[in-house]
Amino acid sequence: MRKKIVAGNWKMNCLLEEGQKLTSEIVNMIKDEPIKDVKVILNPPFVHLHGVKKLIAGVDNIALGAQNCSDKEAGAYTGETSAAMLASFGAEYVIIGHSERRSMFNESNELLTEKTKQALSNGLTPIFCCGEPLEIREADTHEDYVKAQLTESLFGFSEEEIKKLVIAYEPIWAIGTGKTASSEQAQDMHAAIRKHLSSKYGEAVAEEISILYGGSCKPSNAKEIFSKADVDGGLIGGASLKSRDFVDIAESF
Ligand code: PEP
Repeated sequence: MRKKIVAGNWKMNCLLEEGQKLTSEIVNMIKDEPIKDVKVILNPPFVHLHGVKKLIAGVDNIALGAQNCSDKEAGAYTGETSAAMLASFGAEYVIIGHSERRSMFNESNELLTEKTKQALSNGLTPIFCCGEPLEIREADTHEDYVKAQLTESLFGFSEEEIKKLVIAYEPIWAIGTGKTASSEQAQDMHAAIRKHLSSKYGEAVAEEISILYGGSCKPSNAKEIFSKADVDGGLIGGASLKSRDFVDIAESF
């Protein structure tokens, strides 16, 4: 059985007290309304990791994640945060290759391989993001585009390593735009991604990998999207900053 996951990506939002309030609200709701069989992951900015970890302590199905990690192990890399540091702060997951990092910070497929290696070798589960821009969707070459992202970054990993990953399919035209992919568009891409993983690693391995949808997911559309066979949950941006919306999304399975 693949893990069902709802991960919140806070991006660069929340001052100290706002982050604490948001986390406490989510924790209290999940204590009151236990969500069975869904892993909820909070991915705050680095400076919130320690505080969020303390607030979620003891709540079984909430885990901590980060939004990025360095491609280097340690050393003179001012401003960087290593995967080992994240693990030492209690993070279990790390988002790698979010489209905002690819486009604004020029993160290449090759660099993302290195970040994924760092995450894996430090015991973190990478939430590896892929997804196409609007012009690629309009040219109807989105499947090839996303497959190439996965091949170039991930296909050097072993079967044992790839099984540890979570993939997030996030069409860029749907991120923060209010324009969600239809559940059919999400299912088609998720099935194509699974088939692509299967072509390299075999069906049994591909069937074990959770594939999340991201892009303007909200309580009103999550149920429909999560009902699709190859959609194993969501990576949630804007709606993860509203405790009620985020927990409602996690309850949408
Ligand atoms: C994201 O940034 O990962 C995301 C899915 O954002 P939003 O939900 O706001 O579209």
